[in-house]
Amino acid sequence: MDRSNKKWLLCDLHIHTDISDGRLSLPKVIDLYGEKGFDVISITDHLYEQYTINLWLDNNERPCTVPKDGFEDYLALIRTEAQRAWEKYEMLVIPGVEISNNYGKFHILAIDVKEYIDPDQTVEKIIKQIHDQGAVAIAGHPHHKDSEGEMPFIHLWNNHEKYARLFDAWEVANRDDLFNVVGLKKFNYIAGSDFHEKRHLYSWKSLIKAEKNIEAVKEAIRVNKNIAIYLFRKEKPIDMD
Ligand code: ZN
Ligand code: ZN
Repeated sequence: MDRSNKKWLLCDLHIHTDISDGRLSLPKVIDLYGEKGFDVISITDHLYEQYTINLWLDNNERPCTVPKDGFEDYLALIRTEAQRAWEKYEMLVIPGVEISNNYGKFHILAIDVKEYIDPDQTVEKIIKQIHDQGAVAIAGHPHHKDSEGEMPFIHLWNNHEKYARLFDAWEVANRDDLFNVVGLKKFNYIAGSDFHEKRHLYSWKSLIKAEKNIEAVKEAIRVNKNIAIYLFRKEKPIDMD
């Protein structure tokens, strides 16, 4: 008999706020997910490479990135909101980041990040730094196709044999999209909404059977058993509580 406190948890581990390019502030995101009964979320704002930051600066636009010198403040803000989320909703909020390198055509999620990671490095080095911090490394939207049929983040998939076992999991579903290729390869998987605005709440999520604490959720992703993808359209699945 399973005597642990493992339960199916409704999770979204891919969420942006207006700290990078999301529409909603961090507290608004927390309240939105808390009121919908989510158990675990990770805030994963973009941390962009210098090439993309320079493009924004050249166009006199605000760089949609967590600034390197503001990384500690970013984590501190998430920790403060995580405390509020736990007290108000019993929702676990995990500090994360999306290490985004548009020039190199890859986005990598780091869940439970603790220190700044430079996106201008090889994928192997980035994954090593994620793991050295005890965080989980997830290949973001590895087979995303844009409306013109282009694949702007194809680097990870083009090299999936090299990276297959380095990542703890690959996004098999992102927002409304499913990446069949990830399933066919039987890679460790996860799903997330890539939330940028309110309507993105209704999208692919993960159900993870684990105790509701950060270490247990990370371990469940690594082991990749008792994970299900779930298309969240309105409410939490019934009988989860
Ligand atoms: Zn991305
Ligand atoms: Zn994203």
